[in-house]
Amino acid sequence: MAYDDQNIFARILRGELPAIKIYEDDQVLAFMDIMPQADGHALVIPKTPAVTLLDLPAEAAAYTIQIVQKIAKAIETALDAKGIVLMQLSGAAAGQTVPHVHFHLIPSSVHELGRHAAKMGDQEKIQALAEKIKAAL
Ligand code: 5GP
Repeated sequence: MAYDDQNIFARILRGELPAIKIYEDDQVLAFMDIMPQADGHALVIPKTPAVTLLDLPAEAAAYTIQIVQKIAKAIETALDAKGIVLMQLSGAAAGQTVPHVHFHLIPSSVHELGRHAAKMGDQEKIQALAEKIKAAL
């Protein structure tokens, strides 16, 4: 599938749309999910334009997963998370709704998880959670 550079995450990467960011370097951005499935739901995206994990060059995938682990540790510390669900949906058939590859980090148990992207979150509460995660990085 061709990469659409007008997708929401491409626009966040270019600074055209706001996001509550928790980590950024030259290759990766991590930010809070706008419609969280649980408190502290974060997203980690490579800056490399790729629709799915299958399209992402292996080196970018390897680096991104290192940052996924780093953010997961910060979430665990900051929010005293007992468990973290790592979710990666590749392809609309799998439930992917934003066509730029991303990793969900959801501090929760799979048994508590509802449907994702279902309800807009309280942005002030999300901002406060982001500050806690950033402080634990
Ligand atoms: P997917 O369904 O593609 O795996 O997940 C996309 C995720 O992006 C969803 O959990 C959804 O809540 C989140 N999302 C959609 N639009 C925005 C946005 O504009 N900003 C942020 N921060 N998250 C978004």
